[in-house]
Order: sequence, then structure tokens, then C-alpha cells
Amino acid sequence: MEWSYKIGTIYGIPLRLHITFPMLIIAYAALFGYEYGLMAAFRGSILILLLFACVVLHELAHSKQAQRYGVKVRDVTLLPIGGVSNMEHIPEDPQQELRIAIAGPAISFVIGIVLLMINLAAGLPVFDFNFEKIATSSSYIFVYLAWINIFLAFFNLLPAFPMDGGRVIRAYLAQRMNYIKATHIAATIGKIFAIIFGIVGFVINPILIFIAFFVYLGASSEEQSVMVGESLKGLRVKDVMNAQCVTIPAETSLLALVEKIFHGSCRGVILVTEEDQYVGLASQENILSAIHEHGLDIEVGKIAKRDLPTVSPEDRLDDIYRKMQRDQQRAYAVTDREELVGIISLEDLGRAYSLVAALRSEKE
Ligand code: ZN
Repeated sequence: MEWSYKIGTIYGIPLRLHITFPMLIIAYAALFGYEYGLMAAFRGSILILLLFACVVLHELAHSKQAQRYGVKVRDVTLLPIGGVSNMEHIPEDPQQELRIAIAGPAISFVIGIVLLMINLAAGLPVFDFNFEKIATSSSYIFVYLAWINIFLAFFNLLPAFPMDGGRVIRAYLAQRMNYIKATHIAATIGKIFAIIFGIVGFVINPILIFIAFFVYLGASSEEQSVMVGESLKGLRVKDVMNAQCVTIPAETSLLALVEKIFHGSCRGVILVTEEDQYVGLASQENILSAIHEHGLDIEVGKIAKRDLPTVSPEDRLDDIYRKMQRDQQRAYAVTDREELVGIISLEDLGRAYSLVAALRSEKE
């Protein structure tokens, strides 16, 4: 996530804070302080910090469960509208997805109920509180936190895919129909909820409008990614790779390379070799930005991206698609027993997907 900073690591998971988050603390402190004085400003900041500690616990519950199923969690990011667990992939086993989705709301609910009981035992009127009470008495912070956690548990369980409740719906449907169809239905419900959030947010609370955006974009992109991934299943790298790949010696100048590109003998991502050994990739974007920065005389070997993973002709295409998304990489060299045999790019995957999708719609 852009504009976020790592503040620590828990269970091997980097915890990141979005830059707008400190602003939220300042805003709350100012809001409380302006009305009720300095101590209230302090309580306002403590309230937000505790609230986000609860959000971290919610996200860590998802992440711990995901790690149990061998899913790598890249990070947990705290945004002003809540937390996001950034997982490398979502398990396709519906039971696993279900357990990961439920873990967060379950923890929020437990925290809320425990805090509520402590407040009741302490004799605080848990149903009678407002911002003035929170600002003027520290104990009410915990009454507020109790209710917020219970709210978080239920709000996240709304069936607004990719929110937790939406994942529960997808997992339920995926046990009864194919994965693409289950995702499509869950994503459609998610988009309808996003529109409702947007409208309600307009009237009640602008934060909901942000959440609406997240839900809508999240539903679209995850549906797309499932459609492509599922369609590519059964295909292998060797089925779609480009075996007539162009290799260029590392000492070639960008000027000579650009000439080749103009004459059409080179296009797409170029494989760079040193003494006939593959060493790295140079994409059109690479080349253009290098020309901008260093001019045309620099050698392509100096600007090539090196130490990239290579793939095998037998690798599954759906795995390669996920790998590209994960690594934000548009192409890989294909090697067979150390020998360069081709190149596979996002464009090749796109072509394969269009073909499979066309065949499928023909059948339906
Ligand atoms: Zn959650």
C-alpha cells in the first residue's frame, strides 16, 4: 500500500500504518480538546489508539488463521477506515476461506463482550453514554470500545464481498457450484452493497463512501482475478509461451536496440544474454525510462532487470498468473534444465484467457 510506513512486526507479519492515520489522531484530539479541554484531547487520542489496537487484533486473527493454511501474509495495513490483511492468495478450499473470514469478526465480538462484562461489573451504565461522557471520564472510553468492537463484528459480517461476510457467502456458494460462478454471485452482492454504502454514506457518514469504493473495486478486481486464474487452469507454460524469443547480447547499446525495435525484429520484453547465457529482462518501459535517464549510448546489460526467477515449460499457467500479480512482473524467461527455451508474458496469458473465455461462452 502506498503512503504507508512499517511500524513493527507481529508473528512475522509487518504492521504498516497509513500516513493519514496520525492525522486522524490529531483530528480527534482537536475535536475533543476544543470542546472539553486538554485532558479530553488526551482521551480522544487514547481512544483512537485503543480502537486501532482492536482493529489490529481483528486483522491478526485473519492472518494467524491464514498462516495456519500455509498462506503467506505480506503485511497488515491500518487505514483510517479500518485494517487490511494483505495475503499472498486466498485458499480455494471453501472451508479454509470460511475459517479465515470468520476469525476476525469472532475476535472483535469476544473483545466487545468481555469489555462489556467488565464495564457492567464495574457498575458503569453501559447503555447510557455519549461523547461528552467519553471526553470527561476515562472509564467511558472502554464502554465505547466495547460497543465499537461488537459493531465491527457485525458490520464486517455484512455480505459485502470482499468484506468478511462476503467471503463467508462465497465459501458457502463454492461448496454448491463452481468457483467462478460462486465468486460472480458474491461479487455482484458486494457491488450492490457498495452502492448502498455509497448512498447511505452520502446521507449519514462520509467514511462509508470510502468503504463503498474499497468494496466495489475489491469485488471487481477479485472477480476478474478468479475468472482469469480459473480459466487458465489445465494450461501449461509450454502451451502459450513464445519460443521464438529474441535475445540481445548485454553489450548492445540502446541505440542499436531501438533500431531493431523500429524494424520490427524485436518487440515486447527482451531477453538479455551474456556469453549466450540468459541474465535478465528488459521491457519497453525499462528501455524508455533508461533512454530518458542515461541517453542512447548505455548498454542494455546495464539497465536489464537481473536475478529474476525463471519458470519451467511444465509450470501451470494459473500459478504463473498469480506469481505475476504477486511479483508485479509482466514476463518471465522460460528455462528447461538451465537452457533458455522461451519467454512468457502477461500478453500471452491475456491471449490464452480470451481464447478460453470465448470457447466457454460458445459452449454455454
Ligand atoms: Zn475482517
